[in-house]
This record gives sequence, structure tokens and C-alpha cells, in this order.
Amino acid sequence: MIKDANLKFPNRRQKMKSVEGIVIHHPLAYWTIQRLHEYFISIGWNGTAYSYYVQQDATVYYGRSAKGTEYVGAHTKGENHRYIGICAEGNFHQDVNGVPAKRISDDQYRKLVSITAAKCREHNLTHKDVFGHYEIPGQSTSCPGKLFSMDKFRMDVRKELMKGDDDLNLSNYQWSVLENQVEGLLEDGVISDQDWLRKIKDRTITASEMIWLNSVVLQRLR
Ligand SMILES: [Zn+2]
Repeated sequence: MIKDANLKFPNRRQKMKSVEGIVIHHPLAYWTIQRLHEYFISIGWNGTAYSYYVQQDATVYYGRSAKGTEYVGAHTKGENHRYIGICAEGNFHQDVNGVPAKRISDDQYRKLVSITAAKCREHNLTHKDVFGHYEIPGQSTSCPGKLFSMDKFRMDVRKELMKGDDDLNLSNYQWSVLENQVEGLLEDGVISDQDWLRKIKDRTITASEMIWLNSVVLQRLR
């Protein structure tokens, strides 16, 4: 699903220790991954600043990150050690220096949602860990632009994360029972990862995770 543009990086890239969130960007330009990469090298950077790049033609490319490895990017001042950056080609703000602003196309948007959701799954994140560049404190930017709604985007990532989980179809009462059970498991140290509680509260738990959780609850009842 993610294509490799075989980018060469002038310097060694630094591996990320953990990924705590995802930052969404636009480059204010209509450039291919190669052009983008060359631009960053021309200004003395270690190649493309973004971890992943979604082109207008809806192709997703590795940027600073590579297959199986997230490398520290250069997209969000002071936060690159903990956030990966996903950039969608284009200008979603306003016309600037002859670069026209346009809304993202449906095709490109769908790919952006799907790569973001895939990265959420991989790094155990939810839609609430997805930010627009401008939402990160200390950044003076409107990126990814006023024509791009981060609230809608997060909801679409959430929907994507819940796909295939429709069969859970729990009532509010069942969700609250589950929440109590998981709180009990956490208190008793049967499980230690607070993410379980978060996933239930956010209702982003998947069917397979639910099966595992049920087996833990049943074992404890025995
Ligand atoms: Zn940005």
C-alpha cells in the first residue's frame, strides 16, 4: 500500500524510540515526492521532512520513514522525536505565491485517512492522537490549511479504525459493564496497559482485542 520512492538521504537517519501521535501537513505546493525530497536537500536538510507523503494522484510514499522503521522527521518544531508527520500534496489554505489553494480530492483524502488509520493501529493510537500541524502548541502555521477540517478528518479516521467492528454493536450498558471490568483488571494488576481503558472509552477497541479481553475476564472468574 505504501510505495518506496527509493529516496537517498544525505545523512544517517535517526530511529524513533516511540510514536505518540500523528501530525497532518500540507506542503503548500503541488510536488511529487521526488521534487519535494530534492527541495529539502537543496535547502540543506536531510531530505524530505515528512514521514509519509500522499500525492495528489492518491499514491502513498515513504518519506523520512522506511518499511518497518519510523525515523525522526523534521515537520513539527520540537516534537519530531515523538510524532510522525503525514503530508498530503497540495495547498489547502489560500492562494500564495502563485500556488492556488484547492480542497483535497476525495481519492487523495481517502488514502490519507487510510494511511493515518493504519499508522494508528500500528502504533496503538486513536483518532485523538491525530493533530493538524497548527494544533500543536508553539507552531506558527495554519497547516494543513483552512480548507482542511481536522475535526472531520479525526472522525473519518475513527470510522476507519472501527471498520469491521460493527458486529460488536454493544449497548451503552454493555460498554459501561466492560469499562468496569477493565478498571477491575487494571486495579488488580491483571493487565497493566491503560490503553485498554482508553480504547473502550473511545470505543475504538477492535473485535479481536475484545475477544482477547473476554478471555482474560473469563479466566479471572474461574
Ligand atoms: Zn505542516
